[in-house]
Amino acid sequence: MKGHRTTVTALLRWFDKNARDLPWRRTHDPYAIWISEIMLQQTQVKTVIPYWDRWMRTLPTVEVFAKAKPQTFLKLWEGLGYYTRVHNAHKAAGVVVEKFQGRFPSGYDDVLALPGIGRYTAGAICSIAFGQPTPIVDGNVIRVLSRLFGIPGNPKDKTVNAQFWQLAQELVLISSKVGERNNAVSHFNQSLMELGALVCTPRKPNCESCPVQKACVAFNTNRVEQLPEIEKRQAATERKFVAFVVEKNNRWLVQQRPAGVVNAHLWEFPNVEVPVTYKTLPDEVPFTAGSKPLFTIRHTITRYRIQMDVFSGTMKADASGKWVSKRELAKLAFSSAHRQIANRINQISA
Ligand code: SF4
Repeated sequence: MKGHRTTVTALLRWFDKNARDLPWRRTHDPYAIWISEIMLQQTQVKTVIPYWDRWMRTLPTVEVFAKAKPQTFLKLWEGLGYYTRVHNAHKAAGVVVEKFQGRFPSGYDDVLALPGIGRYTAGAICSIAFGQPTPIVDGNVIRVLSRLFGIPGNPKDKTVNAQFWQLAQELVLISSKVGERNNAVSHFNQSLMELGALVCTPRKPNCESCPVQKACVAFNTNRVEQLPEIEKRQAATERKFVAFVVEKNNRWLVQQRPAGVVNAHLWEFPNVEVPVTYKTLPDEVPFTAGSKPLFTIRHTITRYRIQMDVFSGTMKADASGKWVSKRELAKLAFSSAHRQIANRINQISA
């Protein structure tokens, strides 16, 4: 336990000197911290900063967010991906307004019960905004703890995962008793995340400048490269789509994705998934395509490597959708690939 206390103190000292000055670190507003945490899932800090700034300017309180229309919050989220996060957050904002009169709840169980909030986010909100000794465990924290304490095994395995939560709980409790400071649990949890992001990185960690190198089991037993024991990623699955840029009188045809599907409510150009080896379009597609793609977009989403060939298209049968001007194209919320198409149209005909 004494060793743990030394480790906690070293991490707190390191965080005091090395923490990045991030905008959401300048507030204790649980709503602002919550928004930063959901944006940061799957997304890098430098990408999140302008999104978070824009979001907080447009939707500064949980009440304003709860009242916002999907087009408003989807546009603010456009490009961050994983749109289920923002739909769930909107539902949660509704619950905060209805059940808690717009005051973000501070009880861990109440926070955890909100839509889209799991153990990690509840722990982050309760410790950072409310100073409660609630643990957090995410990819960064797993990497740091597994190396620092030499924890073997696949972190996704139930028993191994429980070990990380247990350890994170013990450490954050110790932090609540260290020194004369009221930000200790918040800073301790953030120090684990920050060390994982800046020093104890997945590849080539900077052990030479690590504040807990002396205590680090992986470093002392030469197992830094072996820990954590993460499963190898499955090979990506190839998928191919054909998208159509259909124009009439300086307006373009776009379609809105229905509720309950991936990227629900976002706009997109008409498109169809085709076999990876496709040569001709299926008959039922209501468009004919030009002979050559205008351009091709390649991107990776979760385990899919996606290629989208974008053609100028003409309608051969009725197709649903909305004809919009260049100006409206800029205002609608598209998924990343379709935003690229919209931007190209804006550039071509600017
Ligand atoms: S010594 Fe190296 S492996 Fe150990 S916690 Fe520090 S950076 Fe990570």
